[in-house]
Amino acid sequence: MESLHHIVDLLTRPIEFATRDGYAHLATVRDLGAFVSRQVIEALSERVYPQPVETDLLALRQLFSDYDRNLGAPERQQRLAEALTILRRLRTLTGPSGAQGTILPPAWEPPPATVTGGSRSQATLPTPSPRTQSPQAAPSVPLWKLPIRYAKGVGPKRAVLLEKVGVRTVEEALWFLPWRYEDRSVVIPIGQLTPGSFGTICGTVRRCILKRTARRRMTILEVAVEDASGLLTGIFFNQAYLEKTLEPGTRVMLSGTVSGGRRGWMDPRMEGPQYEVLTEDAEAPLHVGRIVPIYHETKGLTSRWLRLVMKGLLDEYREALEDVVPASLRAKLGLPTIGEAMAEVHFPGASVDLPALDRGTTLAHRRLAFEEFLLLELALAFRHREVKEEKKGITFNPAPAMLSRLRERLAFRLTAAQERVLSEIQADMKADRPMNRLLQGDVGCGKTVVALQAMVIACGSGYQAALMVPTEILAEQHYLNLREQVQPLGLTVALLRSGGPAKHRREALRQIESGEAHLVIGTHALIQKGIRFANLGLTVIDEQHRFGVLQRKTLLDKGYHPDVLVMTATPIPRTLAMTVYGDLDVSVIDALPPGRQPVQTLLFTVSQRRKAYRLLEKEVRAGRQAFIVYPLVEESEKVDLQAAIQAAERLQAQDFAWARVGVLHGRLKTEAKDEVMAAFKAGRIQILVATTVVEVGVDVRNATVMLVEHAERFGLAQLHQLRGRVGRGSHLAYCLLLMSGGAGQGQRDTDEAEVGRPGRALPSGSSARRRLEALVHSSDGFVIAEEDLRIRGPGEFFGVRQWGVPEFRAANLIRDGVLLEGARQEAWTLLESDPSLTAPEHLGLRSAMIRRWKEKLALGSVS
Ligand code: ADP
Ligand code: MG
Repeated sequence: MESLHHIVDLLTRPIEFATRDGYAHLATVRDLGAFVSRQVIEALSERVYPQPVETDLLALRQLFSDYDRNLGAPERQQRLAEALTILRRLRTLTGPSGAQGTILPPAWEPPPATVTGGSRSQATLPTPSPRTQSPQAAPSVPLWKLPIRYAKGVGPKRAVLLEKVGVRTVEEALWFLPWRYEDRSVVIPIGQLTPGSFGTICGTVRRCILKRTARRRMTILEVAVEDASGLLTGIFFNQAYLEKTLEPGTRVMLSGTVSGGRRGWMDPRMEGPQYEVLTEDAEAPLHVGRIVPIYHETKGLTSRWLRLVMKGLLDEYREALEDVVPASLRAKLGLPTIGEAMAEVHFPGASVDLPALDRGTTLAHRRLAFEEFLLLELALAFRHREVKEEKKGITFNPAPAMLSRLRERLAFRLTAAQERVLSEIQADMKADRPMNRLLQGDVGCGKTVVALQAMVIACGSGYQAALMVPTEILAEQHYLNLREQVQPLGLTVALLRSGGPAKHRREALRQIESGEAHLVIGTHALIQKGIRFANLGLTVIDEQHRFGVLQRKTLLDKGYHPDVLVMTATPIPRTLAMTVYGDLDVSVIDALPPGRQPVQTLLFTVSQRRKAYRLLEKEVRAGRQAFIVYPLVEESEKVDLQAAIQAAERLQAQDFAWARVGVLHGRLKTEAKDEVMAAFKAGRIQILVATTVVEVGVDVRNATVMLVEHAERFGLAQLHQLRGRVGRGSHLAYCLLLMSGGAGQGQRDTDEAEVGRPGRALPSGSSARRRLEALVHSSDGFVIAEEDLRIRGPGEFFGVRQWGVPEFRAANLIRDGVLLEGARQEAWTLLESDPSLTAPEHLGLRSAMIRRWKEKLALGSVS
């Protein structure tokens, strides 16, 4: 047996020789391709190598697969240079010469899946002679590893282009699905073509004439095609090379839009038709005469080329495609194999329903979507279990005396829903497994008071509790509220700000580190910067979707094993919740505190602004307070901020000169923010003009009006949250939505332009208007969120990309809710019967899940 090191040596010698002295010996080294191929095969058949080694070896072999035959010198030089790079890397992997046996660390033992998986045939192949070894032999690496660069018809240049669209391997290429289809299946006799229609014809080329325009900028190829019923001219622009392809006598199919013909004065014509040459070996056509897949095209990647590649890949690898969905499950659900599904999705048969194809809802599509969902749900189930198995090493006293003292001091009684959730939390905190719970509840339902009790449980048991909120303003507000409530219990609260005087910050840090601070409030910076807690026992994360899903991992990485309570008012549609929070336990507060009246929601066009102002004025004059909120989005932050500030000045100077108007936005200094918030709470400010900073958490019970400017620029869920800022007391409250025209057309009225002239209203029936009307008619956050998600898609729904909504190729979170639920059930059933997925029939599934989700979901112990 040769050691890998030895083989690397053997390979390096001739290659180095060939490159020496500026490739002086290029021509002297013969049969290099055959030699490399033989060595690599020998090495591969000897044992199973770790992935990086195997990939490199295969890359080497591919580099030389056609080296001996028809390569020019420059290409050869380049291959040799590439080969040397690979060899050098291999050498570092194999260690110093003679270190046999220690070459590969034990962790490099092959995962069981790849040993038994059907696609690994190389390891058992007899050493083949170089002559019988065709370059396209059965792949020795699984398709998810096989670089697309080495697939038939894909050279290095196009491989780079493919990489840009996320395709690096053969498997990824096959999952690059058509985004629509064209029916070019019906062949029409030329004599029956009608002008203006789209059609496909089949005939023989009679003439082929290449013309150049006067300045030779452009070529025009006219191809006359004849069938038994007539003659048609196909016109190709700037495709002079087709002159050779479409020689007279060639049988072709053309697809395109017809002009002229049928009682017209000239033969029918097709300009820029799709074409396909029909050859003797009667393979089914790819580009016309069938339902044809259309791919997302980018420069250099045409659908035509992609079809050829996909066809090639399917021909070559369809059999090798590993079906990760176990056969029993496929049978149970009536799903085709992965090979069948892939073939159907790329090249659907004639009988498939075209609209279903375009929507991606054919059986084949659903098979693929199911697989994506199954992998995700398995991963989530694994993560769920991991967290369950983790020990926190802390047991809290779920009912310390401090808790009763807190509860005695509360101004109200908890609702039944709040009590239920609290007892779920208490049970978690008592257990020795860490709590990982999502608390979901509509705005204003009273999540904070529940969280407060959890924190008091932690502090009462001798641990620190941290509350993380999305914005500094909110942190400050919580600080003021909570301090008032817990100081009488003898607890110290620290607020960690990013701004403000440095000595305040130093003092807060000291208190956190020494354990002097029992309760710590801040933004997510609390766990990010080098902050040490003395003994962190509980972390409460408010409005979690702003943080992303992997906070727990961050905590663990810092060496903490606290209980985690995540709170969100964003009513998450079921499918999304299953996806994103699939590993959390979920508690729901599903009732509002008693005595709340639903907020009156009214829609105004900008020309009706006066009306809205009058309503606001009436409320404020009656002693209530109001918010006026301006949109602020990242891309136009400066402009938006400017608009809000100017509006505040104008409102104070003109419309509401009689009232006290304040302004609040994220750019204010911490002290200024504090001052404004305090003034608003105390009623010194009556009308608060704000950017979306009030979106979450602000709690001023005397506020009864929420006026939202440019409501069409907000998401429904966001508006719903804003609406939740009012109506917290016993007075009837109003949410006034002002909408400007131009929404959806990418233009944006500036506020100045609107003042003093009748604004354009949103056309009734426009999607923006329909959206806002949904809000008027429903106060159910769940209904609204579903609607929002449907309209805006998951990424935008949460307003943050890095939030990490998984991207799917075939699956669609909104459309395929039922399928997702099905996949979830199957995943849990599977894991019940085979908890670690190590049964032979599940190994493929297991490794596919790990490949796809290990990183993204931070699956720690699965490998
Ligand atoms: P959210 O769930 O949106 O965070 P908060 O915790 O801010 O809601 O509570 C909203 C308001 O309702 C607060 O003013 C809070 O004091 C009040 N509240 C909470 N629970 C009750 C209750 N059981 N009865 C009466 N008022 C309550
Ligand atoms: Mg809140």
